[in-house]
Amino acid sequence: MKVKCNSCKRDFRVENIRTEDMENGVERTLFSCPFCRREYTGFYTDDSIRSLQKKIQKAVAKLGNDNYDQKVLKKRIAKLQQKIKGEIDALKARMEPADSERRNSE
Ligand SMILES: [Zn+2]
Repeated sequence: MKVKCNSCKRDFRVENIRTEDMENGVERTLFSCPFCRREYTGFYTDDSIRSLQKKIQKAVAKLGNDNYDQKVLKKRIAKLQQKIKGEIDALKARMEPADSERRNSE
């Protein structure tokens, strides 16, 4: 994923993603601009989101395995991904109620 830094306006590839513990079991996933070191929040996770992530990983691991109904599996993954996206958005809104500048361009 490539983003443009809001500070120095240079394009950079997102790597070295790290997490930081916040209150109530919330973890902030963040990365910085390699040029000016400005920090950006990727997303937040909490217990519920992390357990959904694990469920998705488990389901994805069964893809291509004939012992499982692939159609059902794909539906399940899509459903989980939709759910997790909703929770991530809701958590972000809760953590950054006055967020105005952290929207990164593609
Ligand atoms: Zn920068």
